[in-house]
Amino acid sequence: MIDVDEAHTIVLEHVRPGPTIDVALGNALYATLAEPILCDVDYPPFDRSLMDGYAVRSRDVAAADRAPVTLEIAGQIAAGSEAIRPLEAGEAMQINTGAPIPSGADAVVRVEETELAASGKSVVIRAAVGPGKFVTPRGEYVSAGRTVLTAGTVMTPLEIGVAATCGASMVSVFRRPRVAVLVTGDELVDVDTTPVGPQIRDSNRYILESLIKTAHASPEVLPRAGDDRDTLRRSIETGARCEALCITGGVSMGAFDFVPEVLAECGATMHIRKLAIKPGRPVIFATMPGGAAVFALPGNPLSAFVAFELLVRPALAMMQGRPTAPRSGVRAMLSGRVAPTRDRRAFIPARVTIDKDGGLIAEPLSWRGSGDPFGAATANALIVQPPGAHGASNGEHVLVMLLDRV
Ligand code: AMP
Ligand code: MG
Repeated sequence: MIDVDEAHTIVLEHVRPGPTIDVALGNALYATLAEPILCDVDYPPFDRSLMDGYAVRSRDVAAADRAPVTLEIAGQIAAGSEAIRPLEAGEAMQINTGAPIPSGADAVVRVEETELAASGKSVVIRAAVGPGKFVTPRGEYVSAGRTVLTAGTVMTPLEIGVAATCGASMVSVFRRPRVAVLVTGDELVDVDTTPVGPQIRDSNRYILESLIKTAHASPEVLPRAGDDRDTLRRSIETGARCEALCITGGVSMGAFDFVPEVLAECGATMHIRKLAIKPGRPVIFATMPGGAAVFALPGNPLSAFVAFELLVRPALAMMQGRPTAPRSGVRAMLSGRVAPTRDRRAFIPARVTIDKDGGLIAEPLSWRGSGDPFGAATANALIVQPPGAHGASNGEHVLVMLLDRV
C-alpha cells in the first residue's frame, strides 16, 4: 500500500504535458497557457482621467482650498474623444472617466468639487489638486512588450480579460487531454434500463465523464465491458489510444477482477497497485507501452471519486502543463464526529459551511460506507484523517479537502 502523497509524486513522474494548440481567446476558458502573453501596447495607452470632472492646470487651482477659483470652460472630452486644442492658463475642460487628458492639463478636479456657472461657460473649482491628481499616466500599469501572463497560467475569466486588453486574440494552450472511460462489470446496466435480478445501474460512467469535464479534459466513453478477459483486453487497447484511460471496477481481489492481469498482458507497466486510502484501496496506476496513463479505480462510486480527486485530477492537470502539489487541507471545526482510523488515510464526505464569524464548519454526511451511492452526493468537501488517528468529536478542528462545486 502506497501513501497518497507518494502516489501523487509517482503519477506526476510518469505523465507529461501534451501537445499545444492555438485557440481563439473566446475558447480559452480554463485552458492552460503554453506560451506567455505579452502586452502589445502601453497601458493605459494615453494619459487618462480617473474621474468625471474638469481637467485643469494644477497651478491654476493651487489656492482653491482657501478661495474658490473660476476657470473658463474650454471644451468637453468624452471617453473615446480627444481635446481639439491644448488647455491654456485659466481654463478647464470637462472630462469623463477614461478620456485622455488634454495637453497643457496635469490634473483632474472631481465634479463633486466644482460648480457650473449659470452661463455654462465657466466653472468654480472648490478644491486644490496637485500635479498628476486623478490622472493615470500612459504606461502606468504595463508598458508595451511586457509579459502579463506567464506560461502555465490557467485562463480564468479575469485572465481572459487581461489577454483581451493586450490584444491576444489567439492564445497558445495545452490541448485538452483525451481521457477514455471504461466501465467494467457483468452486473451493470444502462441508466435507461430497469435492473432485474442481480443487476445495478452503471453510475460511474456518468461520474467519471463529469469529473473529467471538471478537470477540463475530453472524456471518450467506451462501450461497457463485462468481466471477461478478451473484451477487457480489446477495450483497454482502444482506450490506450487516448492520453489517459480510466477504468472502473474489476480491480479488487475477487475471482472476476481481471483488470490487473489483463493490463499486464497488454504490456502495461504497473506503478501503483494499492493506495493507503479509505475508501478506495484498490487503485492501479500504470503506463501503457504507447505512453497512455491508465488509472484503474474501484467500482464503488465514492471510492472511484476519491481516487480520481487524489490521482487522476493531478495527472490531467500535469498533462495540461500545470504540475500541482498534493492538495493541502484547510482547517474547519467539526460539527459531528469522525471515527478513529487504522492503517489508511480516511476521506469522509462532508458538507462545509461558513459560520457567522467567517470560520469553516465541517459536518460529516450520513454516508453509510463505500456501497452507499446516495449519502455522499451533497459533499462539498472530504474530511481528511491521517492513519492511526484517534477520531475527532464536536468542536475539534479537522483538515478538509475542499471539492469544487458550483
Ligand atoms: P468492483 O470494484 O468491481 O469489485 O465493484 C465494487 C462494487 O461497486 C460492486 O458492488 C459493484 O457492483 C459496484 N460497481 C462497480 N461498477 C459500478 C458502476 N459502474 N456503477 C455503479 N456501481 C458499480
Ligand atoms: Mg466488479
